[in-house]
Amino acid sequence: MTTVLVTGGAGFVGAHICKALAARGDRPVVFDNLSAGHEHAVRWGPLVRGDIRSAPDLDRAFAEHRPDAVIHFAANIEVGEGQRLPLRFWDNNVAGVVSLLAAMERAGVAPLVFSSTCAVYGEPDSVPITESESLKPVSVYGRTKLAVEQLLADVASVGGVRYAALRYFNAAGASPDGEIGEEHDPETHLIPNALKAAAGIGGRMKLFGTDYDTRDGTCIRDYVHVMDLADAHLAALDLLLSGTRALTANLGTGHGASVLEVLRAVESVTGLAPPYDVHPRRDGDAPILSADLTHARAVLGFEPKRSDIETIITDAWRFHKRAWGV
Ligand code: UDP
Repeated sequence: MTTVLVTGGAGFVGAHICKALAARGDRPVVFDNLSAGHEHAVRWGPLVRGDIRSAPDLDRAFAEHRPDAVIHFAANIEVGEGQRLPLRFWDNNVAGVVSLLAAMERAGVAPLVFSSTCAVYGEPDSVPITESESLKPVSVYGRTKLAVEQLLADVASVGGVRYAALRYFNAAGASPDGEIGEEHDPETHLIPNALKAAAGIGGRMKLFGTDYDTRDGTCIRDYVHVMDLADAHLAALDLLLSGTRALTANLGTGHGASVLEVLRAVESVTGLAPPYDVHPRRDGDAPILSADLTHARAVLGFEPKRSDIETIITDAWRFHKRAWGV
């Protein structure tokens, strides 16, 4: 049995990875300050309430639970907030990882799976995006994630950490049994916002931009089911535990859905048309983002199984219906 310290394990992707770890007999220990995560999403192992920027909090967790590896999710993720509060993002997302790596070194733990993002590419020169695309993030959020990738490479080059940087495209969906799902506050993501509008909660959805150079004028994104992401994390963890020193991989599906296609899929799954108003473009939105999966397939054996848009929305709807009581 492998014990894994999961920072940010009370959040959306983190909680699903904990569930997947427990399902195969591993032991997730959640380390979370609950600034954005939810205590009710910690169900598959202990919760250590702590902050990644606190050396005493981390040392206590490592000493008490003796993890074999770390999966790191704890970070600020809301792009607009990062533009307003860059210092907060650099402190938590980057200084937090310096603190985490130092604690791992003190505890003699080397394997680290890091939750990165396609935001490291900014507006890519070509799609689908391969890992060798130039790295030109256009947001504070993307720059902090890229800085951590560079930090990991530097520390790994002197043997201090073995890491996997997983660049997610649009994480979505929910546990198919409806037990856990996406619960951000405020919610900025398209699928939960469209489901909310369909359910008549919180008014009409804002659709940001219909004048992009895409097949229907709305932005195209590569939505990937959180359960498929979980499989990739387990595969990356196993590689690191068996000695792999460094890997970086895109996690998406290789194709995308436009905002209007998502709204249509929400209607077909729920039977309810989400009411929306067209608004101007949202700052920093690239027209099309989708992942080239060649590398993820080769190194992680990654093959999305639940990431068609209807399955993603069906699973998300099952969770939200219960959470919202609709
Ligand atoms: N979007 C939208 N209305 C919303 C939320 C998102 O029109 O309430 C659009 C957004 O402009 C982008 C796409 O949906 O084109 C996906 O946005 P999301 O925030 O879910 O993910 P991102 O790609 O920004 O990480």
